[in-house]
Amino acid sequence: MHQALSTVPALTGSLETDEDALAWAAHDYGDTVHDRPTAVLRPADAADISTVIRHAGVHGLTVVPRGQGHSTGGQAQALGGIVIDMTSLAAIHEVGPDRVVVDAGVKWSDVLRATLPHGLTPPVLTDYLELTVGGTLSVGGLGGASHHHGAQTDNVISLDVVTPTGDVVTCSPSSNRAVFDAVRAGRGRNGVITRATLRLVRAPETVAWHKLHYDSISQLVADQRQLVTAGTFDYVEGQLKLREGRHVAELEAVTFIGSGAGSGDLGGLSFLEAETHTATYWEFVDRLAPGEPVLREAGLWESPHPWCNLLVPNAAVEEVLHHADSALGADLYSDFGLVLAYPLRTDRISTPLLRLPDDDLFFLIAALRYAPSASPEIVNAMQDANARLIGKTIAAGGTLYLDPL
Ligand SMILES: Cc1cc2nc3c(=O)[nH]c(=O)nc-3n(C[C@H](O)[C@H](O)[C@H](O)COP(=O)(O)OP(=O)(O)OC[C@H]3O[C@@H](n4cnc5c(N)ncnc54)[C@H](O)[C@@H]3O)c2cc1C
Repeated sequence: MHQALSTVPALTGSLETDEDALAWAAHDYGDTVHDRPTAVLRPADAADISTVIRHAGVHGLTVVPRGQGHSTGGQAQALGGIVIDMTSLAAIHEVGPDRVVVDAGVKWSDVLRATLPHGLTPPVLTDYLELTVGGTLSVGGLGGASHHHGAQTDNVISLDVVTPTGDVVTCSPSSNRAVFDAVRAGRGRNGVITRATLRLVRAPETVAWHKLHYDSISQLVADQRQLVTAGTFDYVEGQLKLREGRHVAELEAVTFIGSGAGSGDLGGLSFLEAETHTATYWEFVDRLAPGEPVLREAGLWESPHPWCNLLVPNAAVEEVLHHADSALGADLYSDFGLVLAYPLRTDRISTPLLRLPDDDLFFLIAALRYAPSASPEIVNAMQDANARLIGKTIAAGGTLYLDPL
């Protein structure tokens, strides 16, 4: 045990140093970085976090908050330091007509379970909902509605934060603005978010969900640009994948029936075929949940995920996507891997620490790879492919999303 730990002042929660706690904190969804901390704090309140941050500061120990650990590159790990398990703080305090107040360790799926009975939803959701509020507010939080509403960090009313000096402050656009701007997309290094007041909007009961198929990346991208610029749909995403040796290019466009802004007009688009169905809003936003047991069953949930998330300027997106599609052969995909690709509008995002390409539109491009366990050579090949994709993106004026500050 690190000597400094024996002199930590009394806590209401617990500071754990057993093997299980340290191994847990040295693992994340990526399963490629395994930095062991010295201790794990399971706080009972913000005062515990403040006490530990102050004590660690005196002894030169790094402190890193962790949500669900769904990072893929060790972002929530602290080599030799202290990891704060934020899932200990997971209460939903209040649902109001335009806002919800939650602890930072609450998952977005639980936020929705609390707000949907009131007919309300956060305006922007990530594709997967089992991430914590603090975890996504620390990176940005992008989704198919971001071309209307920006990142999740642009939809925050106020935050309670423990600063790197251990002060407990409430911050918002009009109060302690510097803390508010440092902690949103601050990757957990500029303070610990303990509580968030999040903006809510009216939720639709049902959605019209279109999957449009293309035989060309250029047409897919052209249609995505058109939809996002015109704002015709409430949600727009897209993806490239290889299935049974066939390259698939798909655009997802969704209208929120009765509550959205989009007309849902598919006219003038150049897709080959469209599949359309109606779903409840919950089925739509929770659409990745059924895939998790399938991946677990295939042994690909606990295995390495060398993922790569990029923000690519509009002007370079076709070049980067053609590279992603052709250079990444079938050996780098499982039956589940894919390249997510969809456009966002720079003018909708105002979070200072979210580094965007210098273009009116930019694309989130995420190479989501699933490596089998105990196959370091496959992981290496995937990481090499990522490095080439990153090199192309940076050379074209793009940025990395989710990387450590
Ligand atoms: C299956 C899957 C789907 C995803 N889909 C999307 C998507 O659609 N859109 C998108 O934008 N991202 C997506 N992501 C990425 C995800 O948003 C980030 O990795 C997010 O940070 C994970 O949240 P978490 O709770 O697991 O955080 P962790 O991985 O535990 O932590 C992530 C970062 O946040 C910091 N942090 C955690 N809690 C706090 C806190 N309370 N205060 C301050 N800092 C904190 C950590 O120190 C770390 O730097 C996805 C990830 C996965 C695995």
